[in-house]
Amino acid sequence: MTPTDPRDRLRWIDNLPFWGVHLAAIAGLAWLGWSWTGFWIALVAYVVRLFAITAGYHRYFSHRAYKTSRAFQLVLAVLGLTSTQKGPLWWAAHHRIHHKYSDQPGDLHSVRQRGFWWAHMFWILVERNAKADHDKIKDLTKYPELRFVDRHAIWFTVAYATALFLIGGWTALIWGYFVSTVVLWHGTFTINSLSHVWGWRRYRTTDDSVNNPLLAILTLGEGWHNNHHYYQRSARQGFYWWEVDLSFYVLKLLEVFHVVWDVQGVPRHVRDHRPAAPVDAEGAEAIAPTAR
Ligand SMILES: [Zn+2]
Ligand SMILES: [Zn+2]
Repeated sequence: MTPTDPRDRLRWIDNLPFWGVHLAAIAGLAWLGWSWTGFWIALVAYVVRLFAITAGYHRYFSHRAYKTSRAFQLVLAVLGLTSTQKGPLWWAAHHRIHHKYSDQPGDLHSVRQRGFWWAHMFWILVERNAKADHDKIKDLTKYPELRFVDRHAIWFTVAYATALFLIGGWTALIWGYFVSTVVLWHGTFTINSLSHVWGWRRYRTTDDSVNNPLLAILTLGEGWHNNHHYYQRSARQGFYWWEVDLSFYVLKLLEVFHVVWDVQGVPRHVRDHRPAAPVDAEGAEAIAPTAR
């Protein structure tokens, strides 16, 4: 893979909506001015949709870290689709590749391999990663409803934005979709960029993943990224009580009401294990107890 590979060129025409949402957010704010109502709409839209990404797209669809009903699985998918991060199948297929290669050659978004901004967002905007490899997600593609919503992803964004406008006019649309979505995008992207750069490492995984409490707050728990790379099957990424992980708390609450179940934790002996020596790629299995 080289930077001059045609499949790694930015698809400027296809990506116009991506840049357009950024522009609309800035222009909309300049036009409407500051609004506390707008701020709260944006915050609620951020938190609810980010939960669908962290607990849904990531911990459920990508890692199967807990179980739920087919109906709630679809609810998570549809909520996630309103965040305009493509569908759950696309998301999970690419994320599983990240964990398979984790900062080694073959990783789709590695700061070490391709630089910070590539890992942050440009990897999404190239031809190479436009489609999902369905061989990576056979456990998900067996559900026709997931294949359907994934194929028609953009219409869920359109429906969400239209509903905001009909209910709350321009304020709801600009703050609840455009501003909230731009912050949500870049909040999510930090997991692939900053969470492999800025923080501290508890576990000597074969990648550069780090833990960072500030990123963990902003991303509902995903900033405990070194923990996550170390033990991916856990639905909690904050391994200790002081490692705030809002997505996990909501999952535990949903478990009380039997909406989700078999919520995986991290066994104490795995959590407290600290390899004494640096681990190379061949030694990865010794410190990475799960494949995904
Ligand atoms: Zn992951
Ligand atoms: Zn990572």
